[in-house]
Amino acid sequence: MATDGRTKRSQSICAPASASMEALVAPMETTPAPRRRPAARSQSARITGGRSVRHRRQQQQQQQLDRETRARYSSEPRLAETETPPQVRRQASARRRPPPGQHNQPRRSNAFLDVPRGTHQQPEEEPDEDSYRLRTFNITQKGGIVNRGDSFRRRRSRSGSLAPSSPAQAAPEPLERRPVACHRVAMVGAPGVGKTALISQFQTSECINAYDRQRDIDSSEQKVSIMLNGEESELYFVNCTTTKEEIERSEPPDAFVVIYSVVDKASFQKAEQELARLLDCDMLRARPALLVANKIDLARSRAVSTQDGKCLACTYKAKFIEVSVGINHNVDELLVGILNQIRLKQQQYSAEGGRESSPAHWYKSRGVVRASMKARQMLTWIFGKEDSKFKNCENLHVL
Ligand code: GDP
Ligand code: MG
Repeated sequence: MATDGRTKRSQSICAPASASMEALVAPMETTPAPRRRPAARSQSARITGGRSVRHRRQQQQQQQLDRETRARYSSEPRLAETETPPQVRRQASARRRPPPGQHNQPRRSNAFLDVPRGTHQQPEEEPDEDSYRLRTFNITQKGGIVNRGDSFRRRRSRSGSLAPSSPAQAAPEPLERRPVACHRVAMVGAPGVGKTALISQFQTSECINAYDRQRDIDSSEQKVSIMLNGEESELYFVNCTTTKEEIERSEPPDAFVVIYSVVDKASFQKAEQELARLLDCDMLRARPALLVANKIDLARSRAVSTQDGKCLACTYKAKFIEVSVGINHNVDELLVGILNQIRLKQQQYSAEGGRESSPAHWYKSRGVVRASMKARQMLTWIFGKEDSKFKNCENLHVL
């Protein structure tokens, strides 16, 4: 008798293992269960013995099933680790197991999304001995420049043909290339204006950290290969504090880049001295000069205004550009501008049959030119409209 009663009672409490939640809930709603006296402690202990362990397991399974269904169909993001189904968590942990030798990596929580490893984490690709980096740019119709990225090319042999390559590298390279024009560029400026940092940034499209101390490359020439509008050229940058030695060379450089720092007034005065020397030595008729104002990111400490820079550049018929190597601002524009100015100046020189152009500007004394530039600067300041001469000195795509 006691066994029969237990069976009946436990049947009303426990559902068969195959029963769904709806099947469980439905009969309870339609047929109300008969009121029973609350069981005493000893009685309830008896009821929950044996079969009730199975019942608890079934309930747990049902709860887990519910949790899985909720997790699968819910559109809300799961942030808590506890909400992840155990088997999914197990798979994730198996996937994230660090490869041998990387055991000390920090453990990542499931609460965060995995960020794909970016290319910036990879070590920068460097050319081997047989190849060199080629920087490619295009000039748009409106005078803007487009950086087409860097590529690696195989070096030529001395005879002009390409260096022999391994069979694996025997790629669809052209057998002969057009000769590459080489130009020397003197980078002149007071110590600390950022010459070394600027030459380092010219080498690559990647942003270098100019705020770190740069490797000392002052002693040697730095080569940068550029493809501009489909024509390749090589620029050799020479880092020098003064133009004196470069002027005295049997073959002076093809362009002069005079740099000052906008936070250092003395470097601006030094730039003026260098430009004056170049003019006195008649270096600027056949060669372009570019006046570069660096460190414009240090706006609060600025000691030299843009107008003063433009005025100086116009006085010496140089081009003018403001850059910041620190934030890689206008560095590509300057690099392309240097090559463009060299090409334009050489075209003009050959078009005039080797005679160097001598506009009326050069006949005037420097004092008169400077005074006229100051007057133009004043008018610009009064009327708020930029003088055409000042505008032109900032355009590196025209002479
Ligand atoms: P150099 O003596 O003319 O070759 O000058 P460096 O290239 O050695 O640069 C001198 C210092 O100026 C270094 O500490 C650079 O990090 C820093 N520097 C260079 N360019 C910039 C820039 O654009 N902004 C700032 N804030 N610092 C710069
Ligand atoms: Mg230096």
